Amino acid sequence: MDFNNVNFDTYFKHYPDDKGFFGPYGGCYIEPKLKEAMEEITQAYFSICQSRKFIDELRRVRKEFQGRPTPITHLERLSNSLGNVQLYAKREDLNHTGAHKLNHCMGEALLAKYMGKKKIIAETGAGQHGVALATAAAYFGLECDIYMGNVDIKKQAPNVARMKILGANVVEVTHGLQTLKEAVDAAFDAYSKEYKDCIYCIGSVLGPHPFPMMVRDFQQVVGIEAREQFTEMTGHLPDIITACVGGGSNAAGFFSGFLNDPVEIYGVEPLGKGKNLGDHAASLQYGEEGIMHGFNSIMLKDENGEPAPVYSVASGLDYPSSGPEHAFLRDLGRVKYDVVDDEEAVDAFFKLAKLEGIIPAIESSHAVAHAIRLAKEMKHGSILINLSGRGDKDMDYIIEKYGIR
Ligand SMILES: *Cc1c(COP(=O)(O)O)cnc(C)c1O
Repeated sequence: MDFNNVNFDTYFKHYPDDKGFFGPYGGCYIEPKLKEAMEEITQAYFSICQSRKFIDELRRVRKEFQGRPTPITHLERLSNSLGNVQLYAKREDLNHTGAHKLNHCMGEALLAKYMGKKKIIAETGAGQHGVALATAAAYFGLECDIYMGNVDIKKQAPNVARMKILGANVVEVTHGLQTLKEAVDAAFDAYSKEYKDCIYCIGSVLGPHPFPMMVRDFQQVVGIEAREQFTEMTGHLPDIITACVGGGSNAAGFFSGFLNDPVEIYGVEPLGKGKNLGDHAASLQYGEEGIMHGFNSIMLKDENGEPAPVYSVASGLDYPSSGPEHAFLRDLGRVKYDVVDDEEAVDAFFKLAKLEGIIPAIESSHAVAHAIRLAKEMKHGSILINLSGRGDKDMDYIIEKYGIR
């Protein structure tokens, strides 16, 4: 299949290119010392991760520890309540730890082990990435430092407890606003001092090359499984697939299984409280090209050209940019990006719980809401949703803020 002269038969051979670019987006914009470290990870990725031994071990871990493959569920009662369109969900909520993030964390931690590193480090905002990485570190016997802003530490007590129980060292960041941005800076700082003994593990398809590629590739298992399972279940491909986009890792992995198929693909960004800057995190919808956190992509900027403040009810989606590959797929027209606001996402959260017995993560609820909207507009067909995670973590907050619907 061709889109604007990009041939999706051979897409993965050419994107990213060897400098880490997806068209104009991506790259590696960091200080020279860390460039060396990224170079080392890139080399290791291309040698180690393509070896039979690594692939076999990761495959075994996915099956015996993570519980993969995760199933696809036909959402029959939800579909019937909407009309004739059939909705399905790829159940990443059933992946160990309750979300897709463990897919790339296990890959990154296994790579660290093969590289002879003793430690993995990262930052976390809401704590989801920290918990997934702490889980991977415990499994592979690696040390784990998680940098977290003091404000987030206070807000996310259950996840902080999880990380500590799993043996991770939660490093408190106490300067500036004491949230994710400061935690990113502190983690990068530590990494530039310790990079001989550790690797930095990014939590989405973000950051300098090779991370957007590596994280996508480790998430590709979702798309490959989903395509095979769906065709076996129904005898055909889905007409539409949809996934929520924060940084874009669950979407990137899921989409990669279908890029060369006659399937309409949607990424769903959080519209939060509305269109005003600061009220949402829909970077691909309202942003412009710019460089932050080591890569070039589409981002939301404030009046000084710095990353703008963002908001969403889903803390896993409130990032002022998206992975460079998403910016590229948008420009090509291969993937369409749409938005869902807090209200619509909360409605979908309750709908899926009441009609299907699945409490979705509030992040994933954005994709569910989008599928519901499309299903109402269509006469027939099928939609496959990537249900990126489960909603246990969100229940208290949703009930407190919105009540039971
Ligand atoms: C972190 C998270 C997301 C957003 O991250 P992506 O990199 O965009 O996938 C989505 N869903 C859940 C459940 C998450 O924990």
